[in-house]
Amino acid sequence: MNKKKCPRCGSPITKRNGTRNGVQLYKYQACGRQFRAGEKLSDEHLWYLYQDCKQTIAC
Ligand SMILES: [Zn+2]
Repeated sequence: MNKKKCPRCGSPITKRNGTRNGVQLYKYQACGRQFRAGEKLSDEHLWYLYQDCKQTIAC
């Protein structure tokens, strides 16, 4: 998959972060924000990050 910059911190560096519901998750190493494999930087992406923020208080 292509390197994608985090919409918040701008870092392209990602790490695998386990799976959820059978979908590979990644996170941005710099800020810890998660996203799903193959996901575009879109409204869906931001929505997912929002959901993650509510769970982790990482934002
Ligand atoms: Zn980030």
